[in-house]
Amino acid sequence: MNDKYDVEALEKLSNKEILELVNQITKRNSKRKIITYSKNFTLSLSNYCQNECSYCFYNYKIPKLNSNENVVLIDNDHITSIVQKAISYNCKEALIMSGERPDYYPQVKKELEKRGCDGYINFVKDVCNYLLDLNILPHVNIGILEYDELKRLKGFTASMGLMLESTSEKLFKKGGVHEKSPGKLPERRIRHIEEVGKLKIPFTTGVLLGIGESYSDRIRDLILIKKLHKKYGHIQEVIIQNFISKPNIAYHPKKEISINEMLKVVGIAKLLFKDDISIQVPPNLIHGYEADFLRFGVNDFGGISPFTLDHINPEHKWPRIEDLGRICAENGFDFQERLPIYPKFIDDPEFCPKTIKKRIEEINI
Ligand code: SF4
Repeated sequence: MNDKYDVEALEKLSNKEILELVNQITKRNSKRKIITYSKNFTLSLSNYCQNECSYCFYNYKIPKLNSNENVVLIDNDHITSIVQKAISYNCKEALIMSGERPDYYPQVKKELEKRGCDGYINFVKDVCNYLLDLNILPHVNIGILEYDELKRLKGFTASMGLMLESTSEKLFKKGGVHEKSPGKLPERRIRHIEEVGKLKIPFTTGVLLGIGESYSDRIRDLILIKKLHKKYGHIQEVIIQNFISKPNIAYHPKKEISINEMLKVVGIAKLLFKDDISIQVPPNLIHGYEADFLRFGVNDFGGISPFTLDHINPEHKWPRIEDLGRICAENGFDFQERLPIYPKFIDDPEFCPKTIKKRIEEINI
């Protein structure tokens, strides 16, 4: 398989053929023997979001389950208590997430003003600073931002993330999942990913499967990610995530994406990215099929929290790190902890500013 980016040729491959090609790649590279994860926790800053994706459970408009409440803006006491717990579990990464542009809402603006905070980005910066002082590395994923906002956050976060999700145009048409989500327009997502690249911030992106896109859309999006990475060299991992249906949300597909369909996409990602970009699946969403995903090229299980929920899919608990370690070992892999910034970026001062490097040197991993 060469890099012709031929959607049609890739689309025609069967699962068996994809697996054979993946095996040829992995046999050539001993790095395949290591599977990574990051011990993390989530700080969900605000459930307010300017978009209304019809598959979303996180948005404040959706009533939540159990203790996973909607917040206008997380309060300081809550941050402190979560962080204290994270320290007791020796978590190294804080996933900082929120809806996109929560400050679009007067309730959020008012709350920022009440706390004397000059805008949402400054609030995020303050949270990052607090974490860095405790040697916890932030990974910020708060939706699309402007170039100057990204620039202001560089140096305060070890890496950033934004799912490309899908560039399929039909998702924006009437009845499509992105009909009411201006922030999901492909040109805006692509611009964000490019600007992060220009700023040399280590980056995570990915595709969301089973939201109305076709198989060729999925392949096209992986090729797009590959091209963006080729230009800027900043993408450290690509998440292949399956949409999971739940009550309360508007989107209910006739059929959810199957494990076989997911494996195909993971295999295609491996053929495209080889060992240059890690391929990640959320382990709480593919429980029972971990070994299959490892065979098809997954080499990262992402951030796993010992105590906070997956805020997007709270009904799917994170697996125990020991259990994943055992599955990896049974299938001939070593399971190793990593930081939210990959080693090749840690050693590059352009990607890892002194403010972050200094903290990394104090973390025992
Ligand atoms: S952008 Fe994210 S948080 Fe906002 S509605 Fe869409 S999926 Fe939900």
